Amino acid sequence: MRLLVVEDDPDLNRQLKTSLSDAGYVVDVASDGEEGHFLGDTEPYDAVILDLGLPQLDGVTVLERWRRDGKMMPVLILTARDRWSDKVAGFDAGADDYVPKPFHMEEVLARIRALLRRAAGQATSEFECGPLIVDTRSARVTVDGNAVKLTSLEYRLLAYLAHHKGRVVSRTELVEHLYDQDFDRDSNTVEVFVGRIRKKLGLNVIETVRGLGYCLDDPPDAT
Ligand code: CA
Repeated sequence: MRLLVVEDDPDLNRQLKTSLSDAGYVVDVASDGEEGHFLGDTEPYDAVILDLGLPQLDGVTVLERWRRDGKMMPVLILTARDRWSDKVAGFDAGADDYVPKPFHMEEVLARIRALLRRAAGQATSEFECGPLIVDTRSARVTVDGNAVKLTSLEYRLLAYLAHHKGRVVSRTELVEHLYDQDFDRDSNTVEVFVGRIRKKLGLNVIETVRGLGYCLDDPPDAT
């Protein structure tokens, strides 16, 4: 899953990027409202963390513009603790959730997981597919209860498919959600990664849909 962080405080910006990357997400960052708005407008993010007090363009305006242009990604806003009016303005502009500053990083991570699973129509942070479980809380994957060791990229790919279970995801879409904006993207590598994941899982849950992409679904023999 690919996230955008728009935060002008350099320390906080760095902390968010580090923690979210460690949690298995691809993270792009912006440090002002203009840049943040541009990225959210042009890149496909699965969720956004948006500070409200930003230089160039404030967070509420950024959010209003995205929503006016039909951008539907979940947005978590960062607000000052004592400013209830900020929260109201943020929600009215189209925010899905908020975290007051200062915050514990664990809370941000939990709220992002919740936004992503809600967007995927999931009730819990564990995505099940037959004997396969993708636990987005610990970024761990098990098959029949046995841990499967995946690289961070393989995990991201599998987690993205799990968030879109039952839907065919094109290679282009996968690439867009697996790498950050600076990566030299080559959609052919996706095939290689899918092959490795299949081998490690030892399960037939990722189907190749010729000419269209990949689909994660329950194995045929699952009841
Ligand atoms: Ca700020």
